[in-house]
Amino acid sequence: MKVSQVDVYVLRHALSEPFAFAQWWNSERTCCLVCVTADDGSVGWGECFGSAEVNAAVVRDFLGPRLIGRDPLNTGVLWEELYNRSRDFGQKGAFVAGLSGLDIALWDLKGRALGLPVATLLGGAWCDEVEAYATGFFFTRGEGQAGRLADEARRYLDQGFRGLKMKVGLGLERDLENLRAVRRAVGHELPLAIDANHAYNAREAIELGLHAAAENVWWFEEPVPPEDLEGYAEVRRVLGPHGVPIAGGEAEFTRYGFRELFVRRCVDLAQPDLGACGGFTAGLEIAALGRTFGIEVRPHVWGAAVGLAAALQFLAALPPIPGALTPRTRWLELDRTENPLRDQLIPDFPQREGPMVAVPTAPGLGIDVDVERLRRWVA
Ligand SMILES: [Mg+2]
Repeated sequence: MKVSQVDVYVLRHALSEPFAFAQWWNSERTCCLVCVTADDGSVGWGECFGSAEVNAAVVRDFLGPRLIGRDPLNTGVLWEELYNRSRDFGQKGAFVAGLSGLDIALWDLKGRALGLPVATLLGGAWCDEVEAYATGFFFTRGEGQAGRLADEARRYLDQGFRGLKMKVGLGLERDLENLRAVRRAVGHELPLAIDANHAYNAREAIELGLHAAAENVWWFEEPVPPEDLEGYAEVRRVLGPHGVPIAGGEAEFTRYGFRELFVRRCVDLAQPDLGACGGFTAGLEIAALGRTFGIEVRPHVWGAAVGLAAALQFLAALPPIPGALTPRTRWLELDRTENPLRDQLIPDFPQREGPMVAVPTAPGLGIDVDVERLRRWVA
């Protein structure tokens, strides 16, 4: 079998209402999908995380052409070759995101060729469903609007969610006002994480974290910029005794990047995004590193249906850290903001009952992408 074609699609949806998080405003949702076709007609789909246009250029102009004529089943060989071909200038960022989309597509193709779901190829599924927590609570007028956020929290409870993640990063005062409003709405015990999207320095993050500890936060995500590993370690050292776990990794790449997060004890929870960290091939390595260091891996998910399907296969195949008689909940990040690229690209996916999401068992990623349907969002 040989790769005969690599196609790239940039999809775009204009939001009915723009929303912000701690870093910028979003007025649209975009994604870059990758399709690898082999000479026997089999196909595989992948998705990149980050700037859709830049990722598309990386795949179309640099990485994709180098796959033509190669055996798509050799996922490990191709990953190393493509990474090595761009490592002098692309150890992080769009080059690795482009590689991620291609790697996911190659694993999907391999699963379809072998008639097995990707989770089986990754070592086997530990479960047939995972529990989603709701990611939301974005800002609509540059601030939180505590009352609106509390209403949003109640809506998620009504929908059956038993874990939530809200945005912070607006400054101590507004963050605490919003956090306390949401906490009051859901009660003291419901798992409720906060995510600052690295809007703070270590001193500010510690101050917020100490107050947030009183609100029983589930974890504190991206407290400081991803490059500030000393800051991460300091925040974790101070907040750990107060019962606030530190999470991060959505802006980190490959085994090399996560090695630093782990060696320096920056995080309690590592959150690689499969569409950015290097795909399944790198995700497996990061998960193995996490197990070695005793750090749980819980993938970051933001984007379209293909990335969500990849996360489901990966999450199902992650060995527990550590193993125990009682199985741990496998928490799937499920973004609840407006995004038809996630909800409508693949009909009837994901299959969800309350917070429980079924892990597809069909070959590959377990989903079928319809190119004609997809074209309604092509820019
Ligand atoms: Mg985040």
